[in-house]
Amino acid sequence: MADPRLKNFGRRLLTGLLLAGLFAFLALRQPQADGRLLQRDLLAMGTLVTVTVYRDDSLSPAAAERALDDLAGFLQDFETTWSVLGGGALAQLNAGLARGESVSIPPELAPLFQRAAQYTRQSGGRFDVRVGPLVQLWGFDDESRYRQTPPDPAAVARRVDALRQAPQLGADARYGPAPEVQFDFGAIAKGEACDLAIARLRAAGVRNAIVNLGGNLRVSGQKGDTPWNIGIRHPRPDPAGNAGLLATLPTHGDEAIITSGDYERYFEFEGQRYHHILDPRSGQPARGLQSVTVISRDGALGDAASTALFVAGPQWRETAREMELDQVLAVDEAGQVWVTPALAARLQLRDGITATPAP
Ligand code: AMP
Ligand code: MG
Repeated sequence: MADPRLKNFGRRLLTGLLLAGLFAFLALRQPQADGRLLQRDLLAMGTLVTVTVYRDDSLSPAAAERALDDLAGFLQDFETTWSVLGGGALAQLNAGLARGESVSIPPELAPLFQRAAQYTRQSGGRFDVRVGPLVQLWGFDDESRYRQTPPDPAAVARRVDALRQAPQLGADARYGPAPEVQFDFGAIAKGEACDLAIARLRAAGVRNAIVNLGGNLRVSGQKGDTPWNIGIRHPRPDPAGNAGLLATLPTHGDEAIITSGDYERYFEFEGQRYHHILDPRSGQPARGLQSVTVISRDGALGDAASTALFVAGPQWRETAREMELDQVLAVDEAGQVWVTPALAARLQLRDGITATPAP
């Protein structure tokens, strides 16, 4: 198995299955709704994708199955386009940068590049898709070469300096030359994929659905007469070592629920956890939070923001304001749960969990 993505397939699949199982359990817990519920598991974007559909009278079972088949192909293509591995459009762009060339951003990538540039500005550089070389140095781009010790601080400092001096992403169709930059859309692509997947399902007549990419999800419509009920994962395992829930959220129509956490990819060294969400200004894993969940009408925004707020750490509330988000749940490094008023009004915390208002 030459492709490292395949090599890690088993581990990712297991994690994905556990997570998806948790959410699917919640989505399907209510009575089976006389064959109107369909669920399809797909592997894409390095995770298990679970799509749940509630069929209303206007949608035949065959049409629902066709929509799911189409979605599977679409997500595979999307992954190829945005992956840093393989030979897709983004990987080719990165190869051009590595050769010292000025690159032209292809039209199919341009809209998400422009949104990424906007979120970098709004977040004061906490979210930054130019962060690829730092992610590589920490080994978080490829599970087959996970580190067990932090990289040399001097090497980190060199990449941070190089990033500081490299051109910012703007509205231009060209970028570079910037041989020290590699683009990594890992902090926004899953949110964008949820948005596009829901739009595609709706175009195929599927009004009620959940598209869940490893815990980052978007819903549309509802399940018959009741809203979809979504579980938000606790960032730390329960005493038995199992992933548990922090809260559940009855959804309001069409919205995205996106989480960034320090439990997704990490190693431990001398009692300290080193995880995959890096502060581009220090080159180190961001400190201060265990997880942050953002609810918004736009998955790409929610995804970029969940990463930016995670990097902001104790200052997450200010970054949320800058990015115009009012529904956020955050767990700090002491395990204390914080929730904004707009979300507190609708969130159902699990028994034994208390949350402090974050005005
Ligand atoms: P997420 O899980 O959405 O927070 O995204 C984390 C992924 O985005 C990491 O695995 C990296 O590939 C990439 N990444 C890490 N730190 C940043 C950052 N500060 N800004 C943008 N992307 C990042
Ligand atoms: Mg993100």
